[in-house]
Amino acid sequence: MGRICIVGAGFSGAVIARELAEAGFSCLVVDERSHIAGNCHTERDPQTGVMVHRYGPHIFHTADEEVWRYVNRFGRMEPFVNRVKATARGAVYSLPINLHTINQFFGKTFSPAQARAFVESRARLDIQEPRTFEEQALRFVGEELYRTFFYGYTKKQWGVEPAELPASILKRLPLRFNYDDNYFNHPFQGMPRDGYTAIVQRILDVPGVELRLGCAFEELDEPFDHVFYSGPIDRYFQYREGRLGYRTLDFEAERASGPEVDFQGCAVMNYPDPDVPFTRISEHKHFAPWERIPDQTIVFREYSRACGPDDIPYYPIRLVNEKAMLLKYEQMAAAEKGVTFVGRLGTYQYLDMDVTIRRALDAARAFLTARRPRG
Ligand SMILES: Cc1cc2nc3c(=O)[nH]c(=O)nc-3n(C[C@H](O)[C@H](O)[C@H](O)COP(=O)(O)OP(=O)(O)OC[C@H]3O[C@@H](n4cnc5c(N)ncnc54)[C@H](O)[C@@H]3O)c2cc1C
Repeated sequence: MGRICIVGAGFSGAVIARELAEAGFSCLVVDERSHIAGNCHTERDPQTGVMVHRYGPHIFHTADEEVWRYVNRFGRMEPFVNRVKATARGAVYSLPINLHTINQFFGKTFSPAQARAFVESRARLDIQEPRTFEEQALRFVGEELYRTFFYGYTKKQWGVEPAELPASILKRLPLRFNYDDNYFNHPFQGMPRDGYTAIVQRILDVPGVELRLGCAFEELDEPFDHVFYSGPIDRYFQYREGRLGYRTLDFEAERASGPEVDFQGCAVMNYPDPDVPFTRISEHKHFAPWERIPDQTIVFREYSRACGPDDIPYYPIRLVNEKAMLLKYEQMAAAEKGVTFVGRLGTYQYLDMDVTIRRALDAARAFLTARRPRG
């Protein structure tokens, strides 16, 4: 059996390496960064001692029981429910928009049925087939809720008017007519007690896996039996068809100390107002409440902008031009012998961690099935 190269030590690369190593393959995992866990990397801030999510807040949530068991195998998950707030037009609201938000916003004491009827009376039912994000939002929630909670946030996040974005971005009706303020609908949700990096570390800790950090795939000059590539698909092909568009994020850190210091009282506060330059503020110690760090805190203000050639790609844009370019890269990838493209960058898709793990398990199993000697 020849050696397998796995590009990227995020969840995609780590899970594939583990599956293959357990099946007896020798794997080299390379990552050009100086750390493992990719964009899910967590590390202790040296000044405050708080565990920070360096590339933005990550909450694990899934309906996939096998994936939930998988992460629990490599680290203890603490119960965690993501309850997001929004500061908008001078008031603080509960997200996702729920009965509390609706009653507070409109100054009412509606029951669920009354709220539903009221919002329906505000919805733009004349828009029968919404084509854009804006039309879709107006169709479902009406002008006031759209302008307050969706317009500015979406414009800042994507850098374009919501009237230029496809309706498909807002897939489901983002409203609840009860007081459930759990941001996610999945049955399993939690935060790793020791952070995500510790989980990835344990996944990679198996005989047969060699890890090389600070090493780009392009620097390697060794023969491999097969390559699993979780880097950017356009980069693999030297941007021959052009660069796929991404949004990148800048995080501005602010630290504070003092008895019972608490910047905002919750983990995530969204700022949908268009004139506030950032989209949200994350206060990292609230992602690990069991750690009880009373006298230190660190927050990240999150700014979204177009991704330049030297920036970290975060969110794939996937508008009409990108889709056409992606199709060409996908055709090139399908024709590339001995390489499997995986992960959020290798497939140019936004993937939550649970989906990333599921796809990695499936990719490794498909490879192993194809390699198994026929009996
Ligand atoms: C702001 C933000 C918040 C998120 N929040 C959540 C959340 O709350 N819950 C959730 O489930 N998911 C969340 N996600 C999604 C999550 O980040 C992804 O699911 C996950 O990072 C995908 O893992 P991956 O291994 O495919 O990619 P990555 O984590 O990006 O790993 C790829 C690795 O490959 C390396 N690499 C790339 N090219 C090369 C090369 N040529 N040579 C060597 N190394 C290379 C990179 O350095 C990187 O470390 C969020 C994403 C973002 C952007």
